[in-house]
Amino acid sequence: MTALAPPATIAFIGLGMMGRPMASRLAGAGFKLRVFDLSQKAVSDFVGAHPTALATASAKAAAHGANALIAMLPDGRAVRAAVLEGRDAAADGLGAGALVMDMSSSNPVDTQKLARDLAAKGMALLDAPVSGGVKRAVDGSLSIMVGGAAADLERARPVFGAMGKTITLCGPAGAGHALKALNNYLSAAGVVAMCEALIVGENFGLDPGTMVDVFNTSTGKSNATEVKGHQFVVPRNFAAGFSMALMAKDLRTAGDVASHLKLHVPNLEQAVAYWAAADGKLGKGADHTEIFRYAEMLAEED
Ligand code: NAD
Repeated sequence: MTALAPPATIAFIGLGMMGRPMASRLAGAGFKLRVFDLSQKAVSDFVGAHPTALATASAKAAAHGANALIAMLPDGRAVRAAVLEGRDAAADGLGAGALVMDMSSSNPVDTQKLARDLAAKGMALLDAPVSGGVKRAVDGSLSIMVGGAAADLERARPVFGAMGKTITLCGPAGAGHALKALNNYLSAAGVVAMCEALIVGENFGLDPGTMVDVFNTSTGKSNATEVKGHQFVVPRNFAAGFSMALMAKDLRTAGDVASHLKLHVPNLEQAVAYWAAADGKLGKGADHTEIFRYAEMLAEED
Protein backbone atom coordinates (compact mmCIF):
# COMPACT_ATOMS: atom_id res chain seq x y z
CA MET A 1 0.00 0.00 0.00
CA THR A 2 1.41 3.38 -0.95
CA ALA A 3 1.70 6.07 1.68
CA LEU A 4 -0.57 9.08 1.39
CA ALA A 5 2.17 11.59 0.63
CA PRO A 6 1.69 15.02 -0.98
CA PRO A 7 0.26 15.74 -3.55
CA ALA A 8 -2.34 13.04 -2.71
CA THR A 9 -5.93 14.30 -2.72
CA ILE A 10 -7.79 14.41 0.60
CA ALA A 11 -11.48 15.09 1.14
CA PHE A 12 -11.74 17.16 4.34
CA ILE A 13 -15.17 17.35 5.99
CA GLY A 14 -15.68 19.79 8.88
CA LEU A 15 -13.97 23.18 8.91
CA GLY A 16 -14.76 24.32 12.46
CA MET A 17 -12.45 25.51 15.24
CA MET A 18 -10.16 22.50 14.78
CA GLY A 19 -10.84 21.39 11.20
CA ARG A 20 -9.89 24.77 9.75
CA PRO A 21 -6.31 24.90 11.13
CA MET A 22 -5.79 21.15 10.58
CA ALA A 23 -6.84 21.40 6.91
CA SER A 24 -4.66 24.47 6.62
CA ARG A 25 -1.63 22.42 7.76
CA LEU A 26 -2.40 19.82 5.06
CA ALA A 27 -2.67 22.49 2.36
CA GLY A 28 0.64 23.94 3.57
CA ALA A 29 2.26 20.49 3.32
CA GLY A 30 1.21 20.21 -0.36
CA PHE A 31 -1.83 17.94 -0.15
CA LYS A 32 -4.67 18.66 -2.58
CA LEU A 33 -7.86 19.29 -0.63
CA ARG A 34 -11.53 18.93 -1.53
CA VAL A 35 -13.41 20.54 1.36
CA PHE A 36 -16.97 20.44 2.66
CA ASP A 37 -18.82 21.79 5.69
CA LEU A 38 -22.55 22.27 6.31
CA SER A 39 -21.66 25.93 6.82
CA GLN A 40 -21.11 27.51 3.40
CA LYS A 41 -19.28 30.37 5.09
CA ALA A 42 -16.76 27.95 6.63
CA VAL A 43 -16.09 26.56 3.13
CA SER A 44 -15.81 29.93 1.39
CA ASP A 45 -13.58 31.36 4.14
CA PHE A 46 -11.28 28.34 3.83
CA VAL A 47 -10.93 28.37 0.04
CA GLY A 48 -10.53 32.17 0.20
CA ALA A 49 -7.47 31.65 2.40
CA HIS A 50 -6.25 28.53 0.52
CA PRO A 51 -6.83 28.97 -3.22
CA THR A 52 -5.48 25.49 -4.04
CA ALA A 53 -8.34 23.87 -2.08
CA LEU A 54 -11.55 23.01 -3.93
CA ALA A 55 -14.94 23.92 -2.42
CA THR A 56 -17.56 21.18 -2.81
CA ALA A 57 -21.29 21.05 -2.12
CA SER A 58 -21.59 17.71 -0.29
CA ALA A 59 -19.53 15.07 1.46
CA LYS A 60 -20.02 12.84 -1.58
CA ALA A 61 -18.73 15.54 -3.94
CA ALA A 62 -15.72 16.14 -1.66
CA ALA A 63 -14.95 12.40 -1.67
CA HIS A 64 -15.11 12.08 -5.45
CA GLY A 65 -11.68 11.05 -6.73
CA ALA A 66 -10.00 11.55 -3.33
CA ASN A 67 -7.41 9.06 -2.04
CA ALA A 68 -8.59 9.51 1.53
CA LEU A 69 -11.12 11.32 3.65
CA ILE A 70 -10.79 13.13 6.97
CA ALA A 71 -13.82 13.92 9.13
CA MET A 72 -13.45 16.59 11.84
CA LEU A 73 -17.05 16.82 13.00
CA PRO A 74 -18.76 17.30 16.38
CA ASP A 75 -19.38 13.61 17.12
CA GLY A 76 -19.68 10.10 15.73
CA ARG A 77 -23.30 10.58 14.75
CA ALA A 78 -22.35 13.46 12.43
CA VAL A 79 -19.47 11.36 11.06
CA ARG A 80 -21.75 8.41 10.31
CA ALA A 81 -24.21 10.75 8.56
CA ALA A 82 -21.49 12.43 6.49
CA VAL A 83 -19.57 9.28 5.63
CA LEU A 84 -22.17 6.54 5.33
CA GLU A 85 -25.82 7.28 5.87
CA GLY A 86 -26.79 10.84 5.06
CA ARG A 87 -27.98 12.15 1.72
CA ASP A 88 -24.91 12.45 -0.55
CA ALA A 89 -22.74 10.54 1.92
CA ALA A 90 -19.01 10.32 1.20
CA ALA A 91 -18.80 6.52 0.91
CA ASP A 92 -20.75 6.77 -2.38
CA GLY A 93 -18.05 9.04 -3.79
CA LEU A 94 -14.91 7.34 -2.48
CA GLY A 95 -13.33 4.53 -4.46
CA ALA A 96 -12.76 1.03 -3.04
CA GLY A 97 -9.53 0.92 -1.03
CA ALA A 98 -9.88 4.50 0.14
CA LEU A 99 -8.86 5.32 3.70
CA VAL A 100 -11.29 7.12 6.02
CA MET A 101 -9.85 8.93 9.06
CA ASP A 102 -12.25 10.07 11.77
CA MET A 103 -10.28 12.70 13.69
CA SER A 104 -13.37 13.88 15.61
CA SER A 105 -13.89 12.80 19.23
CA SER A 106 -16.49 10.10 18.53
CA ASN A 107 -18.02 7.32 20.61
CA PRO A 108 -15.68 4.28 20.32
CA VAL A 109 -18.50 1.73 20.32
CA ASP A 110 -20.06 3.50 17.31
CA THR A 111 -16.60 3.61 15.72
CA GLN A 112 -16.24 -0.17 15.95
CA LYS A 113 -19.52 -0.48 14.04
CA LEU A 114 -18.51 2.14 11.46
CA ALA A 115 -15.24 0.26 10.88
CA ARG A 116 -17.16 -2.96 10.17
CA ASP A 117 -19.65 -1.21 7.89
CA LEU A 118 -16.92 0.53 5.88
CA ALA A 119 -14.88 -2.69 5.65
CA ALA A 120 -17.93 -4.32 4.02
CA LYS A 121 -17.63 -1.63 1.31
CA GLY A 122 -13.87 -2.23 0.88
CA MET A 123 -12.78 0.84 2.86
CA ALA A 124 -10.53 1.03 5.89
CA LEU A 125 -11.18 3.30 8.87
CA LEU A 126 -8.70 4.83 11.31
CA ASP A 127 -10.03 6.65 14.34
CA ALA A 128 -7.51 9.38 15.01
CA PRO A 129 -8.83 11.92 17.52
CA VAL A 130 -6.55 14.72 18.61
CA SER A 131 -5.56 16.58 21.74
CA GLY A 132 -3.87 19.93 22.13
CA GLY A 133 -6.59 22.43 21.24
CA VAL A 134 -6.71 25.12 18.60
CA LYS A 135 -3.22 26.48 19.40
CA ARG A 136 -1.53 23.15 18.73
CA ALA A 137 -3.73 22.54 15.66
CA VAL A 138 -2.40 25.82 14.26
CA ASP A 139 1.26 24.95 14.88
CA GLY A 140 0.91 21.29 13.84
CA SER A 141 1.90 19.79 17.20
CA LEU A 142 -1.26 17.86 18.09
CA SER A 143 -1.22 14.55 19.94
CA ILE A 144 -2.97 12.02 17.66
CA MET A 145 -4.42 8.81 19.16
CA VAL A 146 -4.92 6.18 16.49
CA GLY A 147 -7.17 3.13 16.45
CA GLY A 148 -7.05 0.65 13.56
CA ALA A 149 -4.58 -1.46 11.60
CA ALA A 150 -0.84 -0.69 11.83
CA ALA A 151 -0.53 -0.87 8.02
CA ASP A 152 -3.24 1.77 7.60
CA LEU A 153 -1.46 4.03 10.09
CA GLU A 154 1.76 3.68 8.05
CA ARG A 155 -0.22 4.71 4.99
CA ALA A 156 -1.62 7.75 6.81
CA ARG A 157 1.59 8.76 8.62
CA PRO A 158 2.53 11.63 6.23
CA VAL A 159 -0.99 13.05 6.65
CA PHE A 160 -0.90 12.85 10.46
CA GLY A 161 2.70 14.10 10.46
CA ALA A 162 1.55 17.37 8.87
CA MET A 163 -0.88 17.97 11.75
CA GLY A 164 0.63 16.32 14.79
CA LYS A 165 3.84 15.78 16.69
CA THR A 166 2.96 12.68 18.71
CA ILE A 167 1.24 9.85 16.85
CA THR A 168 0.34 6.83 18.99
CA LEU A 169 -1.20 3.58 17.80
CA CYS A 170 -3.52 2.76 20.71
CA GLY A 171 -5.04 -0.51 19.45
CA PRO A 172 -7.73 -1.71 17.01
CA ALA A 173 -10.72 0.31 15.73
CA GLY A 174 -12.22 2.45 18.51
CA ALA A 175 -9.10 2.43 20.70
CA GLY A 176 -8.15 6.01 19.78
CA HIS A 177 -11.65 7.28 20.47
CA ALA A 178 -11.80 5.45 23.82
CA LEU A 179 -8.46 6.92 24.91
CA LYS A 180 -9.48 10.41 23.79
CA ALA A 181 -12.70 10.33 25.85
CA LEU A 182 -10.76 9.13 28.90
CA ASN A 183 -8.10 11.80 28.34
CA ASN A 184 -10.80 14.46 28.32
CA TYR A 185 -12.22 13.09 31.57
CA LEU A 186 -8.81 13.77 33.15
CA SER A 187 -8.60 17.16 31.45
CA ALA A 188 -12.11 18.17 32.60
CA ALA A 189 -11.42 17.01 36.15
CA GLY A 190 -8.30 19.19 36.23
CA VAL A 191 -10.21 22.25 35.02
CA VAL A 192 -12.98 21.85 37.61
CA ALA A 193 -10.46 21.28 40.43
CA MET A 194 -8.52 24.42 39.41
CA CYS A 195 -11.72 26.52 39.25
CA GLU A 196 -12.93 25.38 42.66
CA ALA A 197 -9.47 25.99 44.19
CA LEU A 198 -9.38 29.51 42.69
CA ILE A 199 -12.86 30.32 44.03
CA VAL A 200 -12.06 29.15 47.56
CA GLY A 201 -8.64 30.83 47.50
CA GLU A 202 -9.96 34.15 46.23
CA ASN A 203 -12.63 34.20 48.94
CA PHE A 204 -9.89 33.57 51.50
CA GLY A 205 -8.08 36.65 50.14
CA LEU A 206 -5.50 34.96 47.90
CA ASP A 207 -4.56 36.52 44.58
CA PRO A 208 -5.66 34.21 41.69
CA GLY A 209 -2.60 34.99 39.56
CA THR A 210 -0.29 34.12 42.45
CA MET A 211 -2.25 30.92 43.03
CA VAL A 212 -1.76 29.78 39.42
CA ASP A 213 1.95 30.66 39.58
CA VAL A 214 2.35 28.55 42.71
CA PHE A 215 0.32 25.62 41.32
CA ASN A 216 2.59 25.64 38.28
CA THR A 217 5.71 25.22 40.41
CA SER A 218 4.05 22.77 42.83
CA THR A 219 2.32 19.40 42.82
CA GLY A 220 -1.05 20.94 41.86
CA LYS A 221 0.28 21.59 38.33
CA SER A 222 -1.87 20.25 35.48
CA ASN A 223 -2.72 21.09 31.89
CA ALA A 224 -5.51 23.27 33.33
CA THR A 225 -3.13 25.34 35.49
CA GLU A 226 -0.44 25.51 32.79
CA VAL A 227 -2.46 26.40 29.70
CA LYS A 228 -5.87 27.60 30.93
CA GLY A 229 -5.32 29.46 34.23
CA HIS A 230 -3.51 32.66 33.24
CA GLN A 231 -4.67 32.43 29.64
CA PHE A 232 -8.45 32.05 29.90
CA VAL A 233 -9.79 31.74 33.46
CA VAL A 234 -8.05 34.39 35.60
CA PRO A 235 -8.63 37.15 32.97
CA ARG A 236 -12.16 35.74 32.44
CA ASN A 237 -11.93 35.92 28.61
CA PHE A 238 -12.96 32.22 28.36
CA ALA A 239 -11.48 32.02 24.85
CA ALA A 240 -9.95 28.50 24.74
CA GLY A 241 -11.89 27.64 21.54
CA PHE A 242 -13.29 24.32 22.79
CA SER A 243 -16.97 24.50 23.58
CA MET A 244 -18.63 23.37 26.78
CA ALA A 245 -21.12 21.32 24.73
CA LEU A 246 -18.26 19.32 23.16
CA MET A 247 -16.56 18.77 26.53
CA ALA A 248 -19.90 17.59 28.02
CA LYS A 249 -20.22 15.25 25.03
CA ASP A 250 -16.73 13.82 25.64
CA LEU A 251 -17.56 13.19 29.31
CA ARG A 252 -20.78 11.47 28.23
CA THR A 253 -18.75 9.31 25.85
CA ALA A 254 -16.34 8.28 28.63
CA GLY A 255 -19.33 7.47 30.84
CA ASP A 256 -20.97 5.46 28.04
CA VAL A 257 -17.79 3.40 27.60
CA ALA A 258 -17.81 2.58 31.33
CA SER A 259 -21.52 1.63 31.27
CA HIS A 260 -20.99 -0.45 28.13
CA LEU A 261 -18.39 -2.39 30.13
CA LYS A 262 -20.76 -2.50 33.17
CA LEU A 263 -18.21 -0.65 35.35
CA HIS A 264 -19.22 1.56 38.27
CA VAL A 265 -16.94 4.63 38.38
CA PRO A 266 -18.51 7.19 40.74
CA ASN A 267 -16.21 10.16 40.03
CA LEU A 268 -16.65 9.80 36.29
CA GLU A 269 -20.44 9.48 36.71
CA GLN A 270 -20.41 12.65 38.81
CA ALA A 271 -18.31 14.47 36.20
CA VAL A 272 -20.76 13.47 33.44
CA ALA A 273 -23.68 14.91 35.46
CA TYR A 274 -21.72 18.06 36.47
CA TRP A 275 -20.75 18.99 32.89
CA ALA A 276 -24.22 18.15 31.53
CA ALA A 277 -25.79 20.47 34.12
CA ALA A 278 -23.27 23.23 33.36
CA ASP A 279 -23.90 22.88 29.63
CA GLY A 280 -27.67 23.14 30.25
CA LYS A 281 -27.23 26.19 32.47
CA LEU A 282 -24.72 28.20 30.41
CA GLY A 283 -26.29 27.43 27.08
CA LYS A 284 -25.17 27.34 23.49
CA GLY A 285 -21.87 28.89 22.53
CA ALA A 286 -20.21 28.75 25.98
CA ASP A 287 -16.51 27.86 26.04
CA HIS A 288 -15.58 24.92 28.28
CA THR A 289 -13.45 27.23 30.48
CA GLU A 290 -16.72 28.96 31.47
CA ILE A 291 -17.10 26.02 33.83
CA PHE A 292 -15.48 28.58 36.19
CA ARG A 293 -18.70 30.66 36.04
CA TYR A 294 -20.77 27.55 36.76
CA ALA A 295 -18.51 26.67 39.73
CA GLU A 296 -18.97 30.24 41.01
CA MET A 297 -22.77 29.91 40.75
CA LEU A 298 -22.71 26.66 42.75
CA ALA A 299 -20.31 28.13 45.32
CA GLU A 300 -22.62 31.06 45.94
CA GLU A 301 -25.81 28.98 46.29
CA ASP A 302 -27.29 28.91 49.80
P1 NAD B 1 -16.82 23.00 15.74
O1 NAD B 1 -18.21 22.94 16.25
O2 NAD B 1 -16.06 24.28 15.80
O3 NAD B 1 -16.78 22.50 14.20
C1 NAD B 1 -17.54 21.45 13.70
C2 NAD B 1 -17.83 21.74 12.21
O4 NAD B 1 -18.50 20.62 11.64
C3 NAD B 1 -18.73 22.96 12.00
O5 NAD B 1 -18.11 23.85 11.09
C4 NAD B 1 -20.03 22.36 11.44
O6 NAD B 1 -20.69 23.21 10.52
C5 NAD B 1 -19.51 21.11 10.76
N1 NAD B 1 -20.48 20.03 10.60
C6 NAD B 1 -21.30 19.49 11.54
N2 NAD B 1 -21.99 18.44 11.02
C7 NAD B 1 -21.59 18.32 9.73
C8 NAD B 1 -21.92 17.41 8.67
N3 NAD B 1 -22.79 16.41 8.85
N4 NAD B 1 -21.31 17.58 7.47
C9 NAD B 1 -20.42 18.59 7.30
N5 NAD B 1 -20.07 19.47 8.25
C10 NAD B 1 -20.64 19.35 9.45
O7 NAD B 1 -16.04 21.83 16.51
P2 NAD B 1 -14.46 21.72 16.78
O8 NAD B 1 -14.12 22.46 18.02
O9 NAD B 1 -13.73 21.97 15.52
O10 NAD B 1 -14.38 20.16 17.14
C11 NAD B 1 -14.45 19.13 16.15
C12 NAD B 1 -14.17 17.80 16.84
O11 NAD B 1 -12.88 17.84 17.44
C13 NAD B 1 -15.15 17.47 17.98
O12 NAD B 1 -15.39 16.10 18.01
C14 NAD B 1 -14.40 17.93 19.24
O13 NAD B 1 -14.84 17.24 20.40
C15 NAD B 1 -12.97 17.60 18.84
N6 NAD B 1 -11.90 18.40 19.48
C16 NAD B 1 -12.02 19.76 19.63
C17 NAD B 1 -10.97 20.48 20.22
C18 NAD B 1 -11.02 21.99 20.41
O14 NAD B 1 -10.15 22.52 21.12
N7 NAD B 1 -11.98 22.71 19.81
C19 NAD B 1 -9.80 19.81 20.61
C20 NAD B 1 -9.69 18.43 20.40
C21 NAD B 1 -10.76 17.74 19.83
